[in-house]
Formats: sequence, C-alpha cells, structure tokens
Amino acid sequence: MIPKSHPRYESLLLREKMVNAAKKGYLADSAMIAHGRGEAFDYLIGERTTFPAKRAMYVAVAALLLSNNPVLSVNGNTTALVCDEIIELAQEVNAKIEINLFYRTDERVKIISQLYKDHGYKDILGTLDDDIIYLNDIKNSRATASRTGIFSADTILVPLEDGDRAEILKKSGKNIITIDLNPLSRTSKMSDVSIMDNIVRAVPFMTKIAKDLKTQDKAVLLEMVHEFDNEENLKESLQQIRLKE
Ligand code: ATP
Repeated sequence: MIPKSHPRYESLLLREKMVNAAKKGYLADSAMIAHGRGEAFDYLIGERTTFPAKRAMYVAVAALLLSNNPVLSVNGNTTALVCDEIIELAQEVNAKIEINLFYRTDERVKIISQLYKDHGYKDILGTLDDDIIYLNDIKNSRATASRTGIFSADTILVPLEDGDRAEILKKSGKNIITIDLNPLSRTSKMSDVSIMDNIVRAVPFMTKIAKDLKTQDKAVLLEMVHEFDNEENLKESLQQIRLKE
C-alpha cells in the first residue's frame, strides 16, 4: 500500500499497475522498459498536460468523430493503465477497440480479451477468433490487423506504439493518432496527430472533449483537423521539456 502523502504517489501507483499486469502474464518483457522511458519524459514535462498536448487532443477527437471506421488499438501497457478509460472513450467517439500486440502470443491475447470482457466490453477485436490478415501483404507479425478493425479503419489511435508498426499503418494509408510521451520517437514523428502526454491523463481528457465536440458542426471539426500542423505542434511539445529547475 503506497501512502497518499508520498511525493511520487501517482507515479508509484502506475508502477504498481504495471507490476500487477506483469504478474497476470499479459505484458511482454520489454513493457517495463517502455514504461520507464515514458516516466522519464513525464518527469521532464512536470507530469502535467501541456498546452500543445491539449491542442493535439482536440484535433485527435475531432478526427475520430469525423471518421467512418475509427479504431482504438490497445496493447498490454495501455490495458494495464487505462482499460476502463479506453472503453469509455470508444463509446463516446463510436470507435472499435482492437488488441494489437508487438509481441503477439495466444496467451497474452487470451488474457487481454478476457480482461476487456470482464470490464464490460464484449466486442473486442484482434482476438484469437477474429479474422486476422496482413496490411499491405507484409507477412510479418507487425503487420497483422483485424479485417473489420484496423485493416478497414480510416483513423486509428495507436498509443504507446513502436515505430515499425506505426510506419506500416501509415504506409497503408491510415490516419494515425498517437499518445506518446516521447516527442522524438519515430511514432510521434510519423503520426498525423501526436499527443505528448501520459496516457492516464490523456484518455479521460479526450472523453471529456468528445462530449463537447459531439455537439459541434462537422464543418468546425473539419477546420480543426485541417488547420493542425503536427510537426509544428511537436516542436512546441519539445519546448515543454524542462532541463532546469
Ligand atoms: P519508436 O519506435 O516510435 O521510436 P520506442 O522505441 O520508444 O519508439 P516503444 O518502446 O515500443 O517505442 O514505445 C513506447 C513509447 O511509449 C515510448 O516512446 C514511451 O515514451 C511511451 N510511453 C510509455 N509509457 C507511456 C505512458 N504511460 N503514456 C504515454 N506514453 C508512454
């Protein structure tokens, strides 16, 4: 039990979630390292949601609301940290959820799909029973996708994604949104909208934004998406990193 008064309470709570997920057997060995890299960047931005991240979130939600077949891609880390919050966001923007693992094993897929079911979400894609095919005919586990999900999606939210996979998705013509605390990662640079924020702050905030933007005209949402410059926003995100006290 971590005392609430601990100065690193929130951060330790997230570590505990990661440790519990590892014990349940659905994280790859490298998941903790990826989490640690995220933690380091979060430390440097003061563990707060910055203005460029908020701007990117508005655009991301607008893009999801404008899409015909939006999909939220989930991996082990995302599930460990924001399983319920992803389900809420999916409901708010009318998106599907698909399991998409860098190191896909039947065992991990089984545990993660059961977890979403236990949390009340029955329609999870990318399961062992799903029709999994390859994007762009690349016969590689990085290119797998559910036929009715990522394969036919127009917009995909791929949080905490690896650069190879993001590149394959981008090359297959998808509109890519990422949540990644590292503004220098290949995924952040390759995406159409990159949200430099901790996923635990970003996803609930995006659900709130969705409640608001759903009532807006389509023209307003389109303008938000067209006016956004991801490269410029990433530069501003990078400037939020504090190297001095
Ligand atoms: P790339 O291949 O895109 O250059 P990478 O090699 O760092 O990046 P991974 O380690 O596969 O890719 O992805 C993990 C990414 O997710 C890292 O950039 C890390 O900063 C980020 N990350 C980890 N935990 C969180 C979190 N809680 N919220 C947001 N981002 C996170």
